[in-house]
Parts: sequence; structure tokens; C-alpha cells
Amino acid sequence: MVTEVVKSNELHKIDPVFGQLSFDNHEQVVFCNDKDTGLKAIIGIHNTVLGPALGGTRMWKYQSEWDALNDVLRLSRGMTFKSAITGLNLGGGKAVIIGDAKTEKTPELMKKFGEFVHSLSGKYITAEDVGMETSDMDLVRTVTPYVTGISEANGGAGNPSPITAYGVFMGMKAAAKYTFGSDLLEDKVIYVEGIGNVGEALVENLTNEGAKVYIADINQKRLEEIRDKYSVEIYGGSNLYAEKMDIYAPCALGATINDTTINQIQAKIIAGAANNQLADEKKHGLMLRDRGIVYAPDFLINAGGIINVYAELENYGRKEIIRKTENIYNTTLEILTNAETNGVTTHQAALDIAQSRIDAKKNNQ
Ligand code: NAD
Repeated sequence: MVTEVVKSNELHKIDPVFGQLSFDNHEQVVFCNDKDTGLKAIIGIHNTVLGPALGGTRMWKYQSEWDALNDVLRLSRGMTFKSAITGLNLGGGKAVIIGDAKTEKTPELMKKFGEFVHSLSGKYITAEDVGMETSDMDLVRTVTPYVTGISEANGGAGNPSPITAYGVFMGMKAAAKYTFGSDLLEDKVIYVEGIGNVGEALVENLTNEGAKVYIADINQKRLEEIRDKYSVEIYGGSNLYAEKMDIYAPCALGATINDTTINQIQAKIIAGAANNQLADEKKHGLMLRDRGIVYAPDFLINAGGIINVYAELENYGRKEIIRKTENIYNTTLEILTNAETNGVTTHQAALDIAQSRIDAKKNNQ
């Protein structure tokens, strides 16, 4: 009996939503449920100081609803800092749909999701993320204007993934310049983990420059497809992290730099597209620094996609998209140097600059 009371008190201490580790003063969290289409989605709106919260929708077969909530909270927070550091007038938001994108995604479900987005009257603007295609955003567009990443045929900027990959490539080159004194990636040994939409486009950039690229993915068919298209090798081992390499490029899901992997990592640089690569930003950021591994902050170098979809809202063209994306090179170099000068992790240096932009806008409101 006594234990039950203690348990119940403990439960009250850990608030299920506001007390989540990943909850970081989010402005709004919306749970979307529709019995007819089977839609179960969560929209996280982290911060709208700089503008409407823009961020993609991820469809994933989560192990539990808690995992989905945790993911959307981490992702939406990341979007706030991504847009802020990139100089875009956007806030941070993200959505997750719980389910298998290959078997459970239907046009009805996507439209219903669009209706939920619409009900937020533009406070949240969606786009694609893992498990979504441009054609899904076209469907969402039939019920709401608050969507980006729609096809060029429908007046959008098209698939953001090649631009995301180009930005990662720029960030990686800047990290190489900082670490090796040259940004040429020729002959550098690079492991790309996750060769989906972004991973493939990154592989193309890297192989064009003559890098020695190894690829890893849980999808064997995809691995063979990419191997047949580019000059790459499929990684055949069982522990990629422990392999000797110049650069590790995480391009699958987040949190691959964690308590288990961090001490095994042999890479000199980490630069990839995945969001939230550090399982614990502070702890793992410090551990990477102590091990002398140069980490190019994910939310800084994977901003090409948001630059691409922002063009749909601001009506700028391809030339400006490329210019803004290439600027990731300069910002990355600046952040890596700043971090060293100020004795902070590269992740913290990037966060500080992003936060100062948000604070400045807030104080002038
Ligand atoms: P995608 O779904 O096209 O590709 C993801 C790939 O990762 C798939 O091939 C999948 O099989 C593979 N994968 C999943 N789990 C894996 C694992 N444990 N080990 C190895 N491979 C695994 O997604 P994408 O659009 O290429 O995005 C990749 C990452 O980049 C995501 O984290 C996404 O949030 C981030 N990102 C994407 C964009 C964009 O423009 N698409 C923009 C910013 C950030």
C-alpha cells in the first residue's frame, strides 16, 4: 500500500508531457486522431518568435506513442534553431504520423492530416520528412495552403532532398577545411549511413569529387541500387562506427551518436543530414570535443531543405536557393572557429548564435 502511494507521488512528479526531457518550452503540441482513416499524428510547435513554425512531417512505425512524442518534440525544437541560424524568418515545428509509410499511408489519411494542419490557421506549415514524398504534399495542398515542398508542376520548389544534400556537402567541406587544411574531399574515406533521398544525393556529390565512399542501410535492395549507380562500396561489416574513416555522415535517423557508439567512433569529422544526431546534446557534444572529433552541427548543415521550401513562401528562385545553401560553408567554418575560441562545443556555439537571433527579435517585439 505504502509503495503504491510513493509510486503515485513519483508519477505526479514526472509530468507526462511538460516534464518530458525533450519538452523545451514548446508553445503548443497538437494530438490529431481520426478513426476513419486511422490517422494518429502529433504536431509540435516549438517556437514562433521568428515566424510561423515550419517543419516536415515524418511517418514512422514508432515502437510506442511516447517515442513518437519524444521524436516530434526533439525535431520541432531543432527546426527553431535551424531556421534561426540560417537567417530565415521561420519558427520551429514538426509533425509525426504514427504508422508504416509503405503500408498505412493512404490519400484519405494524408488529406485528413492536411485538415488538422489547416485548423492551425498557418501557425504550423508542413513539408516532407522521412516517409513522405512530394506527391504527399500535393495531396495535403488540396485541403490547405499551409504546406510547402509541393511539386514543381503544382508551383512548388520540388523535392528538397538534393538541396539538403548539397548543404551537407558544403558543411562537410568546411569541416574538412577546418580539420585538414583543405576542403577537397578527394580520396577521403567517407561512410554514409542511410542512403535514402538525401543520402543518395550526398553520395553523388561525394563520388563526383573523388571521395572513397562506403554506404550502409537497412534496406539491402537500396544498397545494391546505389552501388550499381555510383562508384561506392557497400559496407559489409557489423560495426560501422568502429571503422577507420575520415568522415562519418549520418543520413538515416537521429541519435546514432550515443552512449554505446561514441567511444567507438573513429571518424575525424562527423557531418551528415540526420536530425538530432547527438542523443544527448550536451553530454555527447562534450565527449566528441574531448575525443578531438570535429562535429558539424546537424541543424546547421542540413538546412538546405528548409531553404528550398522557404523559397515557396518568399518567392525566391533557384539562384537564391543555391546561394543561401552554399553559405552553409561559411557559417560552418565560422561556428567551428567560434567554438574553439570560446571553449564551447560546436553544437553549443551554433545554438548560441541561433538563440541570440531569437532573443533579439523577441526583445524588439
Ligand atoms: P529517407 O526516408 O529517404 O531515407 C532514410 C534512409 O535511412 C532509408 O534508406 C532507410 O532505409 C535508412 N535507414 C533507416 N534506419 C536505418 C538504420 N538504422 N541504419 C541504416 N540506415 C537506416 O529520408 P531522407 O529524406 O533521406 O532523410 C534522411 C535524414 O535527413 C532524416 O533524419 C531526415 O530527418 C534528415 N533531413 C532530411 C531533409 C530532406 O530534405 N529530406 C532535410 C533535413 C534533414
